[in-house]
Amino acid sequence: MPAANEGTGMTAPSEAVLQVRGLAKVYRGAETPALNGLDFTVREGEVFGLLGPNGAGKTTAISIICTLLRPTGGSVTLCGVDTARFPARARRMFGLAPQDIALYPSLTARENLRFFGGLHGLEGRDLQRRIDECLTLVGLRNGENTRIAAFSGGMKRRANLAAAILHSPRVLFLDEPTVGIDAQSRSLILENLAFLRDRGTTMLYTTHYMEEAEALCTRVAVMDRGRILAEGPPRTLSAGMDGCSNLEEAFLRLTGRHLRD
Ligand code: ADP
Repeated sequence: MPAANEGTGMTAPSEAVLQVRGLAKVYRGAETPALNGLDFTVREGEVFGLLGPNGAGKTTAISIICTLLRPTGGSVTLCGVDTARFPARARRMFGLAPQDIALYPSLTARENLRFFGGLHGLEGRDLQRRIDECLTLVGLRNGENTRIAAFSGGMKRRANLAAAILHSPRVLFLDEPTVGIDAQSRSLILENLAFLRDRGTTMLYTTHYMEEAEALCTRVAVMDRGRILAEGPPRTLSAGMDGCSNLEEAFLRLTGRHLRD
């Protein structure tokens, strides 16, 4: 959010939390790059939606930003930290809800959160309090002693989100957090994300659901073939394109209608 600049009456742009510069990735044996000079900036308090058809490079980008994958070129700066040079420091600043559920199936929801909270340095009463808060937020207090393996898809996604926010990270990375789940779980996850957004959590978020991005994101970028095609607040982006009345139409105009499998 822009901050008032005392004395001058001007508004100063808020701090850049994430800077992605010229990011490139060529997978071994691949003919074309997965990322090809990806550039964007996410500022404090923004919910930035990274949108693109299958194969556009979204997961590759999030994986590099989270230090899970090495880029072929370019740089990522998170809260002033060069993530390639100082990956351990960078990891302390964010929470990640990856596309594949990152929980131990044989442990209960509470046991998983206790384990991951411990990895983040939480302990004792603070840890218990955060586990209670996060399980309540995602509607899992009743299922907290059930093993993850016995959870429905929606419950797993909600537990995945609880694990990502447990340590109250400054930045949250979400890779398709509502994919393949029922309307009830989806709606609860979106409520949770809106709640976190309204409390000022910065988020980078990928989704295929355009109406979801319109409701949640303060800014979106449409990417394809490893680079950004257009970016802006969802409504501004579609309003700036002739004949496009919503984000989905703008998205199809930018990326084309041919199928991506
Ligand atoms: P998205 O998340 O937007 O669907 P990805 O980042 O998964 O896109 O993929 C971008 C491109 O990189 C695609 O062409 C995909 O086939 C390729 N790719 C992704 N992961 C690998 C990998 N581990 N090895 C080789 N190619 C990959």
